[in-house]
Amino acid sequence: MKLGAQLSTTRGLKTAIMEASERGLSVLQVFSRSPVGGQSKELPKTGTVSAWLEQAHIRPFFVHAPYFVNPAATDPTMQERARAVLAEEMVRVKRLHGDFLVLHPGHCQGIGDEAKAAGLEILAGTLRYMLTRPGIILMENTAGQGRELGSTFDELHELFRHLGRIRRVGILLDTAHAMAAGFPLHTTEDVTRFLGAVERGVGLNRVRGVHLNDNAYPVGSHRDRHAHLLTGHLGLPALKALLREVRDRSWPLILETPGSTVEAREHDLWQIEQLL
Ligand SMILES: [Zn+2]
Repeated sequence: MKLGAQLSTTRGLKTAIMEASERGLSVLQVFSRSPVGGQSKELPKTGTVSAWLEQAHIRPFFVHAPYFVNPAATDPTMQERARAVLAEEMVRVKRLHGDFLVLHPGHCQGIGDEAKAAGLEILAGTLRYMLTRPGIILMENTAGQGRELGSTFDELHELFRHLGRIRRVGILLDTAHAMAAGFPLHTTEDVTRFLGAVERGVGLNRVRGVHLNDNAYPVGSHRDRHAHLLTGHLGLPALKALLREVRDRSWPLILETPGSTVEAREHDLWQIEQLL
């Protein structure tokens, strides 16, 4: 199984890559810059990162986009800023030799179905603009907090409908967000129902990976606080079923449970290894 985690790069990207590799992880996710804003970090020299990744046997390498811009903003100034920042992120991912840029769909600016529909259309425009650069974008399903888009696979279906025949956009499933959005993940049948909704909405063939997290808040709460595996609302039978599906489909698995180091996820990794 391709197993990995989101790690902090505060001690440098090379340290994060080596840390993952030393624990036997084969997948890594990082933020290429501060997720909440500020100047973007200097990038290592071209070529060096691919050598580190190769040496550490890490692939795929996921880069998470920052949260401080809203790709679905109707406000023209906010929209322009989001497009500029995210197109630059595409270039940064390429220079970091990343495989995917992971993106949250953003928030609609208004209430009701019309505002949602408008937000999804703008989001599609942002993605089209980003795709003027090379690279692959992965949209994450969300908890649906406030006016957050992308918590249902109908909304994500709508997004792909706007995008048409574009192939460089995929899906990254997050189990904590799915639970917050109203998908129980307690039993084996829950996992079947959840994947059924993914298949009907966007197609399982678009999925490029899974963020495996528990959620501290109840199912359907639309509140998202990642928790260590089996300490929140994720059930053991569902975790077993998810691991089987992930393995059978060769989806890379990324832990985004609390903490920013491998050590902080040691119990989660142990848990997964026990169940495999
Ligand atoms: Zn996630």
